[in-house]
Amino acid sequence: MPEYINAVCQDCGHRRPFVLQEITCPRCGGEFAEAEYGLDAREGLLAEWRNRDIGLRRFGALLPLRDPDHMVTLGEGDTPLIPLNHLGQLLGHPRLFAKDERQSPTASFKDRQAALAVSAMKEAGLTEAVVSSTGNVAIAYAAYCARAGIRLTAFLTPTVPAEKMRECALYGAHIIKATTTYDASKKLAARFAEERGLYYDRGLRSIPSLESMKTIVFEVAEQLAALDRRSDAPRYVAPDWYVQSISGGLGPVGAGKAFRELFDLGLTDRLPKLAGVQVDGCAPMVTSFARGLSVAEPVHEPRTRVSTLATGEPGRAYQRIKNYIDTHGGSLIAVSDEDGFRAMHQLAKLEGLSMEPGAAVAFAGVIKLIRNGVIKPDETVVINCTGHTFPVEPEVLGQQWWRDWETIDTPAQTGSLAAAPETEGMPAALSRIDVRVRSIAILEDNADSARLLRRVLQAHSDYVIHEATDGIAGLELIRQRQPDLVILDLMMPGLDGFGVLDALRADEALRGIPVIVVTARSLSSEERQRLASQAGAVWHKGEFLDDDLLVEVERVLR
Ligand SMILES: *Cc1c(COP(=O)(O)O)cnc(C)c1O
Ligand SMILES: [Zn+2]
Repeated sequence: MPEYINAVCQDCGHRRPFVLQEITCPRCGGEFAEAEYGLDAREGLLAEWRNRDIGLRRFGALLPLRDPDHMVTLGEGDTPLIPLNHLGQLLGHPRLFAKDERQSPTASFKDRQAALAVSAMKEAGLTEAVVSSTGNVAIAYAAYCARAGIRLTAFLTPTVPAEKMRECALYGAHIIKATTTYDASKKLAARFAEERGLYYDRGLRSIPSLESMKTIVFEVAEQLAALDRRSDAPRYVAPDWYVQSISGGLGPVGAGKAFRELFDLGLTDRLPKLAGVQVDGCAPMVTSFARGLSVAEPVHEPRTRVSTLATGEPGRAYQRIKNYIDTHGGSLIAVSDEDGFRAMHQLAKLEGLSMEPGAAVAFAGVIKLIRNGVIKPDETVVINCTGHTFPVEPEVLGQQWWRDWETIDTPAQTGSLAAAPETEGMPAALSRIDVRVRSIAILEDNADSARLLRRVLQAHSDYVIHEATDGIAGLELIRQRQPDLVILDLMMPGLDGFGVLDALRADEALRGIPVIVVTARSLSSEERQRLASQAGAVWHKGEFLDDDLLVEVERVLR
């Protein structure tokens, strides 16, 4: 619990005690204020940690709630920080982490915002509220308002998937579907609230909404610190990069404030670089930043299938994010919708993280920043995995993602699950799989690399994979199995990759089998020449993505 809570006007610096409904500054009329807490925030934070408070309450010394017992909670916060081992291995960046906000009560990081904002509404004695949303804010607020007994009216645009609207309605929210852009629907919501004297939660103008976003960063800093097992390890550690996909920008603004607070309280030794990722069809912050504008130029007609990120008018959030990046470093970049969908599939298949496209865009951004050399291999990168895909499943997978048992030997065909035959058909279908598909031998002594290669190949197609961990056993395996393709590591115990290649080329029966070399080591020019005549392709570990390899495999197999 803070000693006091002030609202400090961002335009004139005027300080006043924080009152939820008082948005405008009495001195200058400005609508943006920042929370400021009692001087003993550091002690408070550490004390609340020692008291073993859980969830957001642990950070109560830096949150705008006067009585922690007013907290409306569904168990939000304390989401895991997940190392991205496979993606990191593919890209040669071992220190990539996802902050897994999908594991929030309504499956997005908006639950933190809803928890704190609805708690503050309850503390202020409100019984009705209005929000506008690209989907997830409405779902989260609807759930928390249900618990707090607050009647919620949510303004949504028609681009919000029907599944999300239904979810929101299920919690008892009143939904108004405005057939306009998201930015226009915000204006309608504001008018609606004003005419009825209702509280309208407007993101960055709402102190609890902004402050809630800090809790992601506080947790990340605790979790990175916990990776250091020494007894004198610090309590909080900041990453080198913090990355989020951006719509309105509330999350990154809150994250920036949290990093600054931890640093100012002497709890961390650095402020990380901040990366914000938008989609090409709605990237006002990215294009304004590239042009050095101090006020963002809006995108009036967002063109993207990633509806979560369709905020065309960034307003004040842009200035705050630009300020942070100008001072502490970072990047604002855009990726295509397709890059986002591609990253969604990659993270699901490589790491077991099924996220909505709006979240995957951040990962596509990281891949791009790594490839451009902006993010360095030794840097610690935390990516906010902002939301789960399940509310939008039909949207992201298309209609044809399963295969019918009956048509399993003609892989291109798809069909309906309802048409699955009785069990007696299944063994027959299963037995057909093995004889039909192509087989690949992986010769690799490093278990992690072998697992990753197997994972990449099996996630995308019905290859039969054979594996050996040294050259001698590998040659024997190739003689027995006669695979359609060999993926070969160069450095192996016993017979190395060069030895295997020589043996294959000397053998009449094996000479025609194509080989892809995957190696961790840099090659001399003689070695490169030698491989050029013997191998179909040479790939360097840590420098390619899963689908690059798949394209190559398909090309060589053809
Ligand atoms: C809201 C949201 C975003 C964008 O966050 P902002 O901080 O509002 O820019 C990204 N991903 C998901 C899943 C979201 O719900
Ligand atoms: Zn003011």
